[in-house]
Amino acid sequence: MTGTLPALFFGHGNPLNALASNAWTEAWRSIGERLPRPQAILAISAHWYVPGTAVTANARPRTIHDFGGFPRALYEVQYPAPGDVALARRVQEVLAPLPVRLDEAWGLDHGTWSVLKHVYPDADIPVVQLALDETQPPPVHFEIGSRLAPLRDEGVLIVGSGNLVHNLHTYAWGRHAPEPFDWAVRFESAARRLMLEGDYTPLLDYESLGRDATLSIPTPEHYLPLLYVLATRRPGEPIAFPVEGVDGGSISMLTVQVGT
Ligand code: ZN
Repeated sequence: MTGTLPALFFGHGNPLNALASNAWTEAWRSIGERLPRPQAILAISAHWYVPGTAVTANARPRTIHDFGGFPRALYEVQYPAPGDVALARRVQEVLAPLPVRLDEAWGLDHGTWSVLKHVYPDADIPVVQLALDETQPPPVHFEIGSRLAPLRDEGVLIVGSGNLVHNLHTYAWGRHAPEPFDWAVRFESAARRLMLEGDYTPLLDYESLGRDATLSIPTPEHYLPLLYVLATRRPGEPIAFPVEGVDGGSISMLTVQVGT
């Protein structure tokens, strides 16, 4: 028995982290080493942002190279973790009556595999992805996340993958790492404080947090996976930030862990 598993939001950052060995990827690896081994992983990635709610239901999900302009070696990465059709059906069950489509066309996108390749390098734990419904506002994503919480008692590791601060217009691609932008630092610290306090209302209405928030979240898809993880937190459960840092000035690499 694994007991209740934590839930984790990873800031995945640059896809090249899949091939890198740096402070972030080493920290991801040590998280995998210290967690009880899950029976399966349910991943909510920024990079499956489509109309409607869907889960991957293939026995052998393909590794999707959903990016452009990177070195060939990144396109050769495979993450051959099996799927888990029973978990896909269980997700349908816990989210009912919300319609959840069983999808066999998607697979594992880089939001999922660029991190899991370090957390579970053997790719021997089944992985199911849950799509983000692009037509829904943040509170609906939070509600869906809260209904996934019981899976934490069933050996399922819930993993969100995105970035708390994700502004590619200001990101220093391939250049000397600049200092983080002041608005990125301010938004991240405000968000951390709200998370620690369990005060999620402003996080669900993040535009109310002003210009720091809208610069940090110019589009919602990298932020929304965090809401799923926060929504699984139970009263009194600890919250921690086991990985920190800002890449290229405007990508927060913060990892958020709910539970122990
Ligand atoms: Zn991304």
